[in-house]
Amino acid sequence: QTIGDCFDETVSRFPDQDALISRHQGLRYRWRELQDEVNQAARALLAMGVKKGDRVGIWSPNCAEWTITQFATAKIGAILVNINPSYRTHELDYALKQSGTSTLILQGSFKTSDYVATLAELAPELNDVQGAGPLKLAGLPELKRVICLDSAKTLPGMLAWERIFERSDEVSAEELAEVQSGLQFDEPINIQYTSGTTGAPKGATLSHHNILNNGMFVARAMNLTDQDRMVIPVPLYHCFGMVMGNLGCVTHGATMIYPADGFDPETTLAAVAEEKATTLYGVPTMFIAELEHPDFERYDLSSLRTGIMAGSICPIEVMRRVIDQMNMQDVTICYGMTETSPVSFQTTTDAPLDKRVTTVGTIHPHLEVKLVHPESGAVVPKGETGELCTRGYSVMLGYWNNEEATAKAIDNAGWMHTGDLATMDDEGYVAIVGRIKDMIIRGGENIYPREIEDFLYTHPAISDVQVIGVPDQKYGEEVMAWVKLSEGEQLDEEGLKAFCKGKIAHYKVPRYVKFVDEFPMTVTGKVQKFKMREEATHELG
Ligand code: ATP
Ligand code: MG
Repeated sequence: QTIGDCFDETVSRFPDQDALISRHQGLRYRWRELQDEVNQAARALLAMGVKKGDRVGIWSPNCAEWTITQFATAKIGAILVNINPSYRTHELDYALKQSGTSTLILQGSFKTSDYVATLAELAPELNDVQGAGPLKLAGLPELKRVICLDSAKTLPGMLAWERIFERSDEVSAEELAEVQSGLQFDEPINIQYTSGTTGAPKGATLSHHNILNNGMFVARAMNLTDQDRMVIPVPLYHCFGMVMGNLGCVTHGATMIYPADGFDPETTLAAVAEEKATTLYGVPTMFIAELEHPDFERYDLSSLRTGIMAGSICPIEVMRRVIDQMNMQDVTICYGMTETSPVSFQTTTDAPLDKRVTTVGTIHPHLEVKLVHPESGAVVPKGETGELCTRGYSVMLGYWNNEEATAKAIDNAGWMHTGDLATMDDEGYVAIVGRIKDMIIRGGENIYPREIEDFLYTHPAISDVQVIGVPDQKYGEEVMAWVKLSEGEQLDEEGLKAFCKGKIAHYKVPRYVKFVDEFPMTVTGKVQKFKMREEATHELG
């Protein structure tokens, strides 16, 4: 099945139920209304000359049009290119050229981001009236059309989103159906850039088969049904939003609810309470921000049942609080990566509680797993730490236009080498130890930041903590903790070290402690430890 066929099937089953609610835009669609928009957009794209395999970029924070574009492109077989909403000229230029995007759909502006102005820096001709027909831009030769979601911001060389619908009638419903039925499930449909947690983002090329199945299995593990209402505060540009969120809902007829264009703890809590949501997604830092919000108690979260915490290490304390204080008894942890569509491990509610909070669960259906020694590639004995490798339907087709990086990530036997360290117990439960790149080697001793982070979370004054390794003359690396305190709490370096003493091995006690209000983060809410290391190394001289 293709994504478009699955979408249509859901519409035919639940035509009058809520499909999509975009709260900050005040937009609500039932399934048949959403289908109407999607089909019109698909026909308009065809009328403008967009063909199967063409790259259609979308550069916007969360909004209804994002999702309409996702399903419209899926129906015509155009490859959707997810562009990070926080990109600026340099990164945008790279993504557009790297992917060969010929149609770009972009937002007008959002907070400090002026998308139109940023694009115009790369292609000043957009300020001038262009003749009919495809654009000819000196700086971006492959870009043929630009569609702006904000009519007030639309430059003369761009088309306003509303105006494209005027062209829908040029292509009939039958013509669209014919294009849609000619698509194959294993064709590329999406280029997703990774988060950029460890450096420059890489473009993973994914097929219908990859992401549709993954969305379906993720939702199935949560027992999602058409009665579920899911709040999605995570970005749609990332697989967490577009696959686990949108495709999870579409495969089961659940309602997609976008609380805001960017993440904000309060609008998220309000969306849950006011929409009587059953399901909530987030990365750990988002759940922490919600739990720590001064008005947390004011919101009625009793409708919540399940959800997903994923994307980075999920601290045990945070999991417990999400279960107890947010009423998410059935919350699951997922582990995955953009390159594997994304999810390969998920906890399920039938697992014992300690496994649900301390592991990422067991391998997903139809996937294989092995843990290997990062250098030798030999499978490590049960219980030992090794690099996590997965294989199966979810492994991407490859990095777009980057065979070298693809060959490094996926070996000849089809195993995806994740770059993450993990352990597995006798029952197959996997615990993520951390990224190979984040491991600290101090005087020959391997230290996993996660272990120290989990321990420090148990300090009542600490609301968030990240541990990194910094260069050290004597030991090669030393342990440094960046600490965020809860509102009104006090703790100093001495106090923190005293807390560690006798409870964790001396070499794991942070040598340096830095109290901060923020960590450097990706838009997906992930802490960029490489930036912390750069900053700390610079400060320590
Ligand atoms: P980049 O590859 O550009 O540096 P990234 O790896 O963060 O960024 P994503 O594909 O968004 O890009 O994230 C996948 C990574 O997130 C995994 O490789 C893993 O390190 C981390 N991760 C995801 N889920 C979990 C989890 N439940 N526990 C621990 N780590 C997780
Ligand atoms: Mg990665």
